[in-house]
Amino acid sequence: MSRYRLLPTPAQEAALRDHCGHARYVWNLAVEQHSHWHPGRKGAPGYLEQCRQLTQARAEHPWLREGSQTVQQQALRDFAQAMTAFFDPGNPAGQPSWRKAGRHEGFRIVGRGRQWDVRRVSRKIGQVWVPKAGWVRFRWSRAVPPGATSYRVTMDRAGRWHIAFAVISEPVPAPGNGQAVGIDRGVAVSAALSTGDLLHAPGLAARERIRLRRMQRKLARAKRSNRRGRVRHAIARLKARETDWRKDWAEKTSTDLVRRFDVIRVEDLQIANMTRSAKGTRGDPGRNVRQKAGLNRGILRSGWGLLVRRLEEKAPGRVEKIHPALTSQRCSACGQVDRDSRESQAVFRCSACGFACNADVNAARNIAAGHAVTARGGDGAARPVNREPHLLLPSA
Ligand SMILES: [Zn+2]
Repeated sequence: MSRYRLLPTPAQEAALRDHCGHARYVWNLAVEQHSHWHPGRKGAPGYLEQCRQLTQARAEHPWLREGSQTVQQQALRDFAQAMTAFFDPGNPAGQPSWRKAGRHEGFRIVGRGRQWDVRRVSRKIGQVWVPKAGWVRFRWSRAVPPGATSYRVTMDRAGRWHIAFAVISEPVPAPGNGQAVGIDRGVAVSAALSTGDLLHAPGLAARERIRLRRMQRKLARAKRSNRRGRVRHAIARLKARETDWRKDWAEKTSTDLVRRFDVIRVEDLQIANMTRSAKGTRGDPGRNVRQKAGLNRGILRSGWGLLVRRLEEKAPGRVEKIHPALTSQRCSACGQVDRDSRESQAVFRCSACGFACNADVNAARNIAAGHAVTARGGDGAARPVNREPHLLLPSA
């Protein structure tokens, strides 16, 4: 996926906003239809039925009819694909959810040659054809992949437009060296490799983080709405910059790993579930909410989920998920499992053989070995619930 900064004129921007609004409306309609469905009822309408309903809705509502049918139908197709991914037992994705105005703005166009095309007009500027908007300029920051078949236009919270061209992602061939690497996602470092490398996803510098916090306080105090808008805009820009860096990091790191190793092993952690569970529900408020929230922020910040997704896309069948139990308490040298070996968040020192190394690297070595680690002869599945190694918190 290669992403470019889109530079629409004000008139084109209005057309793009309309597309976003229509795509969001159609998507949310589909979400709503599916949310009424539950086992025992007749199935929620499928893609074809929804297309028929869309035609009908366009006949009734002029504002929808004036929009691009291509954009609206594609939103339905995207939704159908998201549902398929949701029900795929081999690679389950999250359930498609409601899209909010100002937060999830975007639409997709497929059919190069019929619906869209791209051309370069100068050294630094390209143009892409968008239905109803015409040729829209974008920054030609690198070559557009020749195999691009579709694109997605998005607007981030800072109001910046981007276009990402999608190529049916070619898997990267395995190097054929028989080597496996284990990756442990950490909070202090973004990822530790079994080779001993510690990877850091780029983030805001300390100075920028202070600035961010200051602006957030300012936003909480600001009363006049134009002032609030300015501060909110500045906050969004800072956050968007961080997101860009992180995406870039996941892209480069995943390519490097799938080129160097035949097999990549990661923990089977459903980050999404962890993130959701910390908050709990009203009936079950969740334990250690505050600590978990801090940990989860760290996970999300480190871009871990994105890295794993890109690994799986670039090396299908070469990424293995390992049961995460006790990987941080087991000695990767002698196999002894002892929670006291985890001296601190950073240091592992085996209480049996004295082997010492970075705690995350030790865990990564266990993951690389592919141990579905068991608690003293247990079968792994029946691990004690009070032992969640990765929920250990720094003592300091
Ligand atoms: Zn040991």
